[in-house]
Amino acid sequence: RFITLEGGEGAGKSTQARLLADALRADGLDVLLTREPGGTTGAEAIRQLLLSNDGDGWHAEAEALLFAAARSDHVARAIRPALAAGTWVVCDRFIDSNRAYQGGAGGLADGDIQALHGFGTGGLLPDLTLLIAVSPETATARLAQRDGDKADRIGARGAAYHAGVAASFARLADQEPGRIVTVDGEGSAQDIHQRVLQVLRAHLAF
Ligand code: C5P
Repeated sequence: RFITLEGGEGAGKSTQARLLADALRADGLDVLLTREPGGTTGAEAIRQLLLSNDGDGWHAEAEALLFAAARSDHVARAIRPALAAGTWVVCDRFIDSNRAYQGGAGGLADGDIQALHGFGTGGLLPDLTLLIAVSPETATARLAQRDGDKADRIGARGAAYHAGVAASFARLADQEPGRIVTVDGEGSAQDIHQRVLQVLRAHLAF
């Protein structure tokens, strides 16, 4: 089974990915916990390129190609082999982040992003995508508790951009209700984790 977690910064995706992987392992399953961009040596190197060019930023199409290149390596060398071995894969961000950030908020056409994904990965989609949704106030408060660099980088993009990302994620969930399930991300990490497990039980018979 292939599960992805999506949402804006400060939604708590990474915490929930960890808790979910732990719960699946406690149930006796083999789990690969991974993230995007990244997850293989090459894809982590591309992650550095993506995150280190904040000064000038990337030309939008070049950025989309880098994300697609990172995912191609990650899917071919880590995710597909794990799935083939019966390992459950929990991935922090995947194609829907590109669709929300570079697409909805960034202005690239969804069809173009999906075409790159098709070329890079053969069009692999998760069995289930958990969209962790929080209010802008909660996201800002959680980010403020983190140390400097990442919060600064994210803040630099502005509230309107992040509102655009959140709106795009919500639209994707409306368009693909069978795959993308919105989880209320307010409250404690344990509260959210319980909601995640409920969704898993309902959708994956876990
Ligand atoms: O997952 P995480 O929040 O660590 O993402 C790292 C950074 O990459 C964030 O600042 C996020 O905004 C950015 N990102 C992006 N487009 C994506 C995925 C992540 O701009 N498709």
